[in-house]
Order: sequence, then C-alpha cells, then structure tokens
Amino acid sequence: MTVIAVGGWHHETNTFAPTPATYEAFTRDGGRPALCRGEAMLAALQGFNLPAAGFIDTALAQGHEVRPLLWCEATPSAAVTRDAYERISAMLIEDLEGLMASGRPPEALYLDLHGAMVAEHLDDGEGEFLSRVRRVVGDAMPLVASLDLHANVTAAMVEQVDALVAYRTYPHVDRRETGERAAGVMDSLLTGGRKPDKAFRQIPFLIPLTWQCTMVEPMASVYSALAEGEGGDVLTASVLAGFPLTDIPDCGPSVVAYGHDAVAVEGLADRLTVAILEREEAFDGKFYAPDEAVEYAMARSAEAKGPIIFADTQDNPGAGGNADTVGILDALVRHRAHGAVLGVMCDAEVAAAAHAAGEGAEITASLGAKSGQSGHTPLTGKYRVERLGDGRFTARGPMYRGFRMRLGPMALLNLDGVRIVVASAKQQAADKEMFRHLGVEPADVKILALKSSVHFRNDFTDVAHEILVVEAPGPSIADPAKLPFKRLRPGLRIKPKGKPLGE
Ligand SMILES: [Zn+2]
Repeated sequence: MTVIAVGGWHHETNTFAPTPATYEAFTRDGGRPALCRGEAMLAALQGFNLPAAGFIDTALAQGHEVRPLLWCEATPSAAVTRDAYERISAMLIEDLEGLMASGRPPEALYLDLHGAMVAEHLDDGEGEFLSRVRRVVGDAMPLVASLDLHANVTAAMVEQVDALVAYRTYPHVDRRETGERAAGVMDSLLTGGRKPDKAFRQIPFLIPLTWQCTMVEPMASVYSALAEGEGGDVLTASVLAGFPLTDIPDCGPSVVAYGHDAVAVEGLADRLTVAILEREEAFDGKFYAPDEAVEYAMARSAEAKGPIIFADTQDNPGAGGNADTVGILDALVRHRAHGAVLGVMCDAEVAAAAHAAGEGAEITASLGAKSGQSGHTPLTGKYRVERLGDGRFTARGPMYRGFRMRLGPMALLNLDGVRIVVASAKQQAADKEMFRHLGVEPADVKILALKSSVHFRNDFTDVAHEILVVEAPGPSIADPAKLPFKRLRPGLRIKPKGKPLGE
C-alpha cells in the first residue's frame, strides 16, 4: 500500500478569446465541482465523469491510501490571470508541502490536469506548475498526470512527469476512464521500481477542432492504432490532438509513449506520428459557407435518409459562442428551406415575448444577436409561435444522459417555413430531447442546424444522412488559418496542408 497525493487543475486557454479566467472563475460551480480542497475534495468529485474521480476510486480499490490536495476548473476562456495562477499554484504547493511534512508523507503523486493552460505571464501553465511541484517532491517520487485530449504538450511537461495519460475520445466521454487508466499506470510504476523510458513527438500542423472528432475518420483509425500498439513493453501511450486556439510556440498535436523498453517506446511513438502525418489531407476537412451548405442540402434532402445536419461550429456555446448568431438561419430563410429546423438559439427576450403571446400567435420579433458581439444583427420578422415549453426536461443522449436541463422558457418559432428552437439559457445543441421538448423529432427533419461543433455527434450521428461543418460568422473561429497567430514555433503549419506562419 502506498500513500498517493491527488490534485487537479483544469483550464483550456483560447488566447484569442476576450475574457480572462480570474480566481473567481475557478470558484464557480458551473455544472462541475467548484474549487475544493482537502477532505472536501473527495466528496465534491464523487460521481463525476472526471479523471480524478476515476483515479481515486481505482487507487483505493488497489489498496492505496489517497491524500487529497485541491481540485479546480474554470470554463474555457482567455489566459488565466497572473493573480489566479499564482494563488492556485501557491495553494496546491502549500497543501503538498503540508503533506510532505506530515507523519505519513505521500510516496507518489497524481495530478488531473488539462494541458492547454496559458497564464498572463506564462505560456506553459502546466509545465511551470509541474516544475514547482517537482521542487517539493523531488525527482524520485513517481508522478503521473492525466491530460485532456486537447493538451498542447510541452517538453517541460514531459520532463517533469513520469507518465502522461490522455483522454482518447472527443467528445470526451472517457474522462473517468482516463483516471482509471492513470491509476493502472501508477500502480505498475510503483511495483516496477524504475522510471519508465519516454518518447515525445510534436506534429508539424494544427488540426481544426471539428476534424479532431474520434468517432469518425481520420481520427478513429489513429486511436485504433494507439490501442493496438500498447501492451508488451509499452506501458501507456497517448495521442493528443492539441488545442489549436492557443498562440504559443508549443501549440499543436503530439504523441507521448512510456514503457520499459526504449526501442519499443520510440517505435510506437514513431508509428503513431506517421499515422497522423499520413492522414494530413483527411484532416483538412471542408468548411461550407452558409449559402453553399443550404443549396447543397436542398438539392439532396428529398432523397436523403435522415436529416442533413449542419454544425454551426463558430457559434458553439461549448467553445465561446453565445448561441445567438443568425448567419445560417438567414441563409435558410432566404433560400426558402421549408421544413428546416435550427437550434438551440439563446434569446430570453424573444422566448418571453412568445410566451406572452401564446401558441398560435404571430409576433414581430428581432431574433438573436443579443450578446452584443460586433458585426452581428438580429433577424427581424413575423414569427409564428408553434409551441411553448418550460425548458425543464431530462437529456437522454450519451453526452448529457440524466442531466436535468433548465433552459428557461422555450419556444418553437416559424419564420417563413423555417423553424427555430429558442431557449432562455445558452446550451450546446447536443441532445435530441432539446428538440423533442417542443415536439420536433430530429429524425424527421430534412435539414437540421445545430449550435455545436463536435459534441452533437454522440446523439445525432445515428439519424444523420450527412453532416456538414458550416462556417457562419461567429466568435469561435473554426479554421486556424484565419486566426491572427504571431507566436507559433517556426515550421508549424497553421492547418493541415497549410503554410507555416510568415510563409
Ligand atoms: Zn478537451
């Protein structure tokens, strides 16, 4: 039995986003536990699909003793403020020093990290934090960290940690499982007695988020190659798709591998790197302009078996969008795409007006663009109120199963034959119940536009005839080549088949 200290700290930094993550952002309970510390951390994490929860349960089942430090996460945003970074780092270090000075100091350490955290004063949030941790625990202590699939892995992170273990799914349905795998790796490090050999490769091009989905090619077969390559002398390996909205030198996909045979470890890292490089062209998926997507879908919808789905990726509330842009809606209305449905549009004002008017009424409304982003205007017209709902329902899809949704007053509106699901709270459209709540069966819709990038694929792939990624104006830029990067490392291509910065 070994005493293992456990802590966690997550932030996914989009350096192009407008708002930084303050200390307060880590203390908010946003559907996940708020900042928790000491014994309270164990209760707070219980039952969550989080790596730390999976690690703790597995380590206890293996007969180890767990000592909680601190766990926190903030919603993806611009860089973590210097104040927040230094305060949280100091708290974690203080807790770790406290344990080290106790009667039964930890003999191993597990950290549940994201891997794409940038602070105002630091490019490599995790690398710096891990260096500070190493100074407290010493080089000999086994240290395992789990990472999000979107981690931008740096040499410092690889150097400080004995084994990095990342998610293998996007949408991330295996967070807990990743913690369980990390506990397995920790257990074998504790019994193996010697530090593992490591391999680390950085891929020379950024992969847009929409083409990182592990449910479809080209990523699906890369992850199959990963699963087949492990075992024998390779203890664990990870493929990290990287978070492409981060303007730092180490932005981008990477591969790590660990084991007790340097040749086997390097060999697998090379094979996985080649697997990604060979698929470069397939990672360069098509982004449709709104008009192009509507014309394409209208020409095919009569014969389509199931809806042609549009991913309104640049207004995805899961990546900084506000679910209130109208670029796709405007194109559907102009092209008279009768029977098309779009959701979930966030507009509390229009939902309230629809409720005041009642089902069957017609209201003149200016829908969308309520978050005040520059360059966006609402779509004004006469909307018929087809159906009303209180926004209270239970999600049933794989991503949100069991979540009790509270989206406030909801309305199904009809503008010239195009129907819009409107809610009062912003919510990524990743569950069919969001439509069924207002009487719309997604499988029966010919053209279905969803405010989501990738997560919707979990619940909607089974009915989709085809999925188009649509690049309507919005804050969450999908094509990395359109971002104003300045600081990427030399030679890194800003998209698959793209050019390096400055060329
Ligand atoms: Zn992620």
